[in-house]
Amino acid sequence: MPRTAPTTGSGPAAPAASSGPTRPAGPGDSGETPLGRTRRARRVMRTLGELHPDARIALTFSTPLQLVIATVLSAQCTDKKVNEVTPGLFARYPDAAAFAGADRAQLEEILRPTGFFRAKTNSVLGLAAALIERFDGEVPGRLEDLVTLPGVGRKTANVVLGHAFGVPGITVDTHVGRLSRRFGFTVNEDPVRVEADLGALLERRDWTIDSDRMIFHGRRVCHARRPACGACGVAKLCPSYGLGPTEPEIAARLVRGDVEAVK
Ligand code: SF4
Repeated sequence: MPRTAPTTGSGPAAPAASSGPTRPAGPGDSGETPLGRTRRARRVMRTLGELHPDARIALTFSTPLQLVIATVLSAQCTDKKVNEVTPGLFARYPDAAAFAGADRAQLEEILRPTGFFRAKTNSVLGLAAALIERFDGEVPGRLEDLVTLPGVGRKTANVVLGHAFGVPGITVDTHVGRLSRRFGFTVNEDPVRVEADLGALLERRDWTIDSDRMIFHGRRVCHARRPACGACGVAKLCPSYGLGPTEPEIAARLVRGDVEAVK
C-alpha cells in the first residue's frame, strides 16, 4: 500500500512511498515556518477536540488532595483500576491528616490492587506528612510547591494544576510526548523540553484540554507500536501519516474505544 497523504486538507506533505518509515518533521527540519507550525498545531488541537469531544481526565476525584493521590496511584496502573480503589480509600481517609495517620499495613492492603503498593504507600504517607508539615494540610496551587511533595513530579503537578485548580498546565505523559514528536511539534524526548515546545505553540488557556485531547488520541488511535493512520481523523495534518497501517479496514481494527481501561 503506497503511503500517500489523504486527499483533503492542506497539511504538510506525506512522506514519499519509497522513503521507508516516516520520521516526524520537527522544528528546523521540515521547511515549515514557525507561524505555519503554530497554525497547524492549533488546527490539530481543534480537530482532536472534534474527534474526542469526551476528552477529559479519566481519574475520579472531588478535591485537589484526591486528585494528587489518584495520580500517584495511576503510575503503572490503569485509571480504571485506580477508580475502583479510590472510593473506598477516600471514604476511609477523608483528608491529609487522616492519610498521615494511616496504619501502613492497612493502607498497603487497600492500595495493593494498583500495583507497586509498597512504594505507593510510601508516597502517599510522605505526601500527606509533607502537606501537614508545610502546607497546613492543603494541596498547594503552585507548580513550584507541588513538585516539592514526595511522589509528585512535574507531570503530576500539571495534572493537578489543570484539573483541580483551573490553572492551565501541559501534561507530558508518554502519549503527549509521542504525539508531539509525530506531529512535528518537537524533536525533544525530555518532557520538560516537550512541555516548553508545546507551550510556545498552543494557546495557554487550552493547555489542559489540549493535553487531554492528545492523551485520548494516543490511547485510542495513535498507539505507540501501530498507530491507526488509515482511520485517523487528523491524518491530513500529520507529517507522520504512514507510520502505521493506512489501509482503512486494517487501521479501523486498531482503534480502541475504552480509553479508561488503556494506559
Ligand atoms: S495515527 Fe498516524 S496520522 Fe494519526 S496522528 Fe498518529 S502518526 Fe499521525
